[in-house]
Amino acid sequence: MNIVLFGAPGSGKGSQATRINKKYNLPHISTGDLFRENINNNTPLGVIAKEFINRGELVPDEPVFEILKNRLALPDCKNGYVLDGFPRNLAQAIELEKISKIDAVIFIDVSMSEIEIRAINRKICPTCGKIYSMVERYTQVCDDCGSDLIQREDDKIDVVRNRIKTYLSQSEPLIKYYRDRKILKTVLSGNSADETFVEVDKILSNLSKKSRN
Ligand code: AMP
Repeated sequence: MNIVLFGAPGSGKGSQATRINKKYNLPHISTGDLFRENINNNTPLGVIAKEFINRGELVPDEPVFEILKNRLALPDCKNGYVLDGFPRNLAQAIELEKISKIDAVIFIDVSMSEIEIRAINRKICPTCGKIYSMVERYTQVCDDCGSDLIQREDDKIDVVRNRIKTYLSQSEPLIKYYRDRKILKTVLSGNSADETFVEVDKILSNLSKKSRN
């Protein structure tokens, strides 16, 4: 199964992708994570990407295509994958169609006011990448590996607002694009990632049943 997780920044795509990866054994491909890896390793691609990411803008398509194509060419993607954060504009959606057939685009629907609150309250583990909501969380260390949690540079309020603007102008039109192609599945975001996953899981188990028949 080739799945796209779609939604505004902070809608919980990463948390759903982690759960999909665990249950369905599909590699979780996050273009944001790939860029962050390049930034941490100070690669030429990372240097280019950092500027755009820290302004809350999209990285230009060419480096995005390069990083994505290289990742999808690895053997673990042979039997499917879950894409998190790609495509983010029309040109990327068209490019993706050239590379592979997408079975479903799962749109995680969250209100814009909620998005801002979530993004600002999000922290990540710099070691294992686990994502936490700090609303009602009192410890600042990762449950899995004990590292101190950090806030992403681009989860600071001004950058979040810019990311939301970027999403509304460039990414949101893809909802119609995929609805027209009849592969859009909308899931209303629940109170927790586990609650949302119940709905995501229903969609994927139906799809995997169909693909087996
Ligand atoms: P994410 O972790 O998905 O929120 O991505 C973090 C940032 O990386 C985004 O705000 C963009 O600046 C950049 N980025 C990630 N994926 C893409 C993409 N498909 N196209 C352009 N920029 C991207």
